Amino acid sequence: SWNEVPLAPPDSIFKLTASYKADTFPQKVNLGVGAYRDDDNKPWVLPVVKKATHLLLNDPTLDHEYLPITGLPEFTAGAAKLILGSDSPAIKEGRTVSVQTISGTGANHLGALFLSRFYHFNGPKQIYLSDPTWANHHAIFRNVGIEPHNYAYYDPSTIGLHFSGFLSSLRNAPSRSIFLLHACAHNPTGVDPTPEQWDAIASVILERGHYAFFDCAYQGFASGDLDRDAAAVRSFVEKGVPLLVCQSFAKNAGLYGERVGALHVVAPTKEAADRVRSQLSVLQRSEISNPPSHGARLVSLILNNPELFEDWKQDIRTMAHRIIDMRQKLYDILTKELHTPGSWDHILKQIGMFSFTGINPDQSKALVEKAHVYLTANGRISMAGLNSHNLRYFAESLDKVVRG
Ligand code: PMP
Repeated sequence: SWNEVPLAPPDSIFKLTASYKADTFPQKVNLGVGAYRDDDNKPWVLPVVKKATHLLLNDPTLDHEYLPITGLPEFTAGAAKLILGSDSPAIKEGRTVSVQTISGTGANHLGALFLSRFYHFNGPKQIYLSDPTWANHHAIFRNVGIEPHNYAYYDPSTIGLHFSGFLSSLRNAPSRSIFLLHACAHNPTGVDPTPEQWDAIASVILERGHYAFFDCAYQGFASGDLDRDAAAVRSFVEKGVPLLVCQSFAKNAGLYGERVGALHVVAPTKEAADRVRSQLSVLQRSEISNPPSHGARLVSLILNNPELFEDWKQDIRTMAHRIIDMRQKLYDILTKELHTPGSWDHILKQIGMFSFTGINPDQSKALVEKAHVYLTANGRISMAGLNSHNLRYFAESLDKVVRG
């Protein structure tokens, strides 16, 4: 009768979406979920994805056979070049391992599982996560017996990076610790290190013999430029930091439900890469047997066909620039029209889909309950939920709760 099974709480983000859907207030706004919306608040099927789908539908050679255990080879090779760079020394030297996964979540899980089995931990199995981070990170590592610890990241007093705290965490952790790093567009804060700060982070990681676990769920969303958003990962590879990268195509290709992702492990030698690949295959076999084919075929076409690749870059710029435009317009209304108390510079400075507004949990609650503006209690808003129709309403509602 399962009496001993405790009732778990619903996932907070999906609960928020359900409350939003049930709300009949005409001006309701959903700033909870991290999914791109166009200016009419509609999910956006990227034009390049429509083109690729058309090509797939008309390809008479396709069947529904199993993919290899490590995924569609053209997809994983293209995905590795996308994040590591087409001239990556690690790819040239044959010391990268790329495995197709169930989107970014699956990449995080497979990476975590691999480390849990094979990483030479210095003491108990643990990982350092940024404070705060994507809530799922904690559960993903606990599931494989790796205990999450926090490292200093966000500074509420500046609504920016707590850089000195971050460096101290890196210095004070036992040597050979694993640090999870958001490659770009940090979720939930929107606060990223600068290139110079990344250099300093890499130096301490090398000094201390740490391992970098990169999570890259928003390549292209930060700056609108795929290469620029991969700069931290690429510079770490160049400096010889031991690392892996989890990659998701949910956001940058708008393929949320197709679950397209990859795990890339950069090993020190080709021989080490071969050993790592063999074990990842064994793990993958027992977990999912073979990854799904449709989404990987779409992304493979986009990555490997130069014309489609150019189209994709344009679609990414469309999404990234709409978000950057919303940041500017929100900032302008708050500072120039409403003269909302406090500084709002962080709205412009923050990067990617999310913005930490800096409002407290009571103010967030007031926005939900009084204004029908749905956001998480930590004050995070998804900029993609803002558009030319609801921006003013949101700004005015925010202004009201800030004034109390
Ligand atoms: N990592 C981070 C930081 C994320 O924000 C997300 C998406 N919310 C993911 C990984 C994974 O997403 P998906 O499994 O949909 O690719």
